[in-house]
Amino acid sequence: MAGVQLIRVTKSYGTVTVIPEITLDFDEGEFAVIVGPSGCGKSTTLRMIAGLEEVSGGSIRIAGKDVTWAMPKERDIAMVFQSYALYPHMNVAGNMSFALRLAGRPRAEIEERVRRAAAMLELTDYLERKPKDLSGGQRQRVAMGRAIVRDAYCFLFDEPLSNLDAKLRSSMRTELALLHKRLGRTMIYVTHDQIEAMTMADRIVIMEKGVVQQVGSPREVYNKPKNRFVAGFIGSPSMNFLDGELQDGDQLHVVGDGFSLPIQGDLAGRARAHGSRQVTVGLRPEHFSTPGRSGNEESIFAPVTLDVAVAEYIGSSQFLAAKIGGAPVTAAIEVGPESEPLASGKYAFDTSRIYLFDRGTGLTL
Ligand code: ADP
Ligand code: MG
Repeated sequence: MAGVQLIRVTKSYGTVTVIPEITLDFDEGEFAVIVGPSGCGKSTTLRMIAGLEEVSGGSIRIAGKDVTWAMPKERDIAMVFQSYALYPHMNVAGNMSFALRLAGRPRAEIEERVRRAAAMLELTDYLERKPKDLSGGQRQRVAMGRAIVRDAYCFLFDEPLSNLDAKLRSSMRTELALLHKRLGRTMIYVTHDQIEAMTMADRIVIMEKGVVQQVGSPREVYNKPKNRFVAGFIGSPSMNFLDGELQDGDQLHVVGDGFSLPIQGDLAGRARAHGSRQVTVGLRPEHFSTPGRSGNEESIFAPVTLDVAVAEYIGSSQFLAAKIGGAPVTAAIEVGPESEPLASGKYAFDTSRIYLFDRGTGLTL
């Protein structure tokens, strides 16, 4: 099987288990992003694929070959790290060609590969410059260039944009997505930033404490999170969680301190079948609105009272730091750019977008 596979891979340092067991299957040519909080084992996983860390158990396959015990240079991978040290005394061309020169490739081939990579990364005009005369973004592109000239089967990225400012990060995300299109290579990208994951990935792997929580497209993990962890991790601002109790009647409701919301459609059936009446309710900030606003076809709005402490103006929306009953919630209300700061009072929630979780296991109902 082509692509990259981790098969029941485990990793321990002495008595400390970092990866209890992980099985992942990356398709050839896909852009996969492994995302999770700091310390969850993302770098360890990537470094095992690269061969920079030994596995404690299980096996790894790249392009159909078992590489579990192969040296990094035998794996046909190229890696870009967060802290990419460029050689300060070499110019851009020298930095980019370093590995090829070390490997003793013919001069004409090296020049051609550097030329192509530089064009792709828009570095053609900078090939003679030293790193100190480049901007942060240009230096980051040189680090990418060093990987690209190798034309590996699989590219591994470990938080390569973390040291850049927000604006540059955003443009580099677009460039990376384009680069993936042009190269068509398998790319596995590690980040703690769910926005990076959502914007770039064909498929997202969400990890927590060394365990894969969900694998899916950005749309799947946002719309159908498997559990409370994924629901809270994906989406910005984060989903609000409130304690609620299911109350049967003509219409099933979830009721809690300061709210009573009707449960719609298939979710009502699943909630009725659920063993416990005590649940956690998940409300995404973006599914609140001012009363009377229309949503999509499925939208069914219910009133909810928000006690607003702070309204943050961000142009097209306002972020409200508010309370429902005694619980803090965030609401992101779409309003016109001329809107006055929103105040406490009646708002609406799109009840077709409610999530319910088992309060014990955190699994989505
Ligand atoms: P992430 O990249 O998701 O932030 P890492 O893969 O770097 O996380 O680390 C996962 C866990 O493994 C962390 O708790 C870290 O402290 C631990 N760890 C990493 N390297 C070592 C090591 N060489 N020895 C012991 N523990 C380590
Ligand atoms: Mg890391």
